[in-house]
Amino acid sequence: MKLETLAVHAGHAPDASTGAVIPPITLSTTFAREPDGSTPHGWVYTRYANPNRDSLERCLATLEGGAACAVFASGSAATMTVLQSLSPGDHVIVAEDAYFGTLRLASELFARWGLAVSLVRTSDPDAVAAAFTARTRLVWLETPSNPLLHITDLAAVAELARRHGAWTAVDNSWATPVLQRPLELGCDLVMHATTKYLGGHSDTLGGAIVAREENELFQRIRSTQMHGGAVQSPFDCWLVLRGIRTLPYRMRGHCANARAVAEYLGRHKRVAAVHYPGLPGHPGHALAAAQMSDFGGMLSIQVRGGRDAALRAKSRVELFTRATSLGGPESLVEHRHSVEGAGSRAPEDLLRLSIGLEHPDDLIADLERALAD
Ligand SMILES: *Cc1c(COP(=O)(O)O)cnc(C)c1O
Repeated sequence: MKLETLAVHAGHAPDASTGAVIPPITLSTTFAREPDGSTPHGWVYTRYANPNRDSLERCLATLEGGAACAVFASGSAATMTVLQSLSPGDHVIVAEDAYFGTLRLASELFARWGLAVSLVRTSDPDAVAAAFTARTRLVWLETPSNPLLHITDLAAVAELARRHGAWTAVDNSWATPVLQRPLELGCDLVMHATTKYLGGHSDTLGGAIVAREENELFQRIRSTQMHGGAVQSPFDCWLVLRGIRTLPYRMRGHCANARAVAEYLGRHKRVAAVHYPGLPGHPGHALAAAQMSDFGGMLSIQVRGGRDAALRAKSRVELFTRATSLGGPESLVEHRHSVEGAGSRAPEDLLRLSIGLEHPDDLIADLERALAD
């Protein structure tokens, strides 16, 4: 079946006890046993497994074409669980432009655990090839990346990693399984901040790891989830599963609007650069066109006049909301350099836009006002 159909149906079935078409939220933390100690429905305790979590995990595994999925209380908890599944002394190659929180986790928290981390420009496969050591166990990728939307060749890097006996994990939060299918390109794990497009309504925090095979790595991830306990609540699982039902249609709107806004900004005299892989001038355009089915809803611009000009434009928007995050129906604008603070790699004249589902004419009118003299 096609993705639109799977998004509506995967993980869903009318509730066996009531016929409810929409699943109930099972808040119970514990489940009754028979006199002989058996658990007739298979449920024991909600940290181990819960009906709402199970539905969401089945849905996400189906959408990504994976064998198994584990969901977490946040995207960062999902990332942390992958890193926790490695051992002290293991070496990890991490995309230098991965999500800021991922870089913090890998190079601050896990450095203290004895994980060796190399930050690499993964859009250059030669740089990745040069970074492997005898202890490399994992390559962590993110494409398109934040905030300059660099594109990494997933099939090429997955092949390199396989030759070095390392796993490949991809943060697919920006592209979603609608636009990009890392497991089909040979990657081992897909990570999601379901907080973003999958939940899709800026009202729930969550994370997921989907595995191509239920291998040793995934078994460690599952065990860390169950025993470490960074699980997603039944209500949050329910919200993400609900959000996913409209994901393919929402992504069409995000992509069409972002393309319209990017083309408009590309012609604007106050905009020095537009970073959007859908524009033919973007350095990753050809690769993105080959590896993604569309270019997504995120873009960044560099405003002529530097930091002050960028902050001024940001202060003048009326329809865009000044806030961090992405993937909701409302458009957001953010000055990444001030949000990330010391150590930020974001240029000071850069604004990142999460293009929502408003009409593109209204978004363009708001940017026209914000960028005017
Ligand atoms: C938001 C985000 C995360 C982290 O997710 P949280 O749910 O905030 O922990 C990780 N990666 C990307 C690409 C993100 O946008």
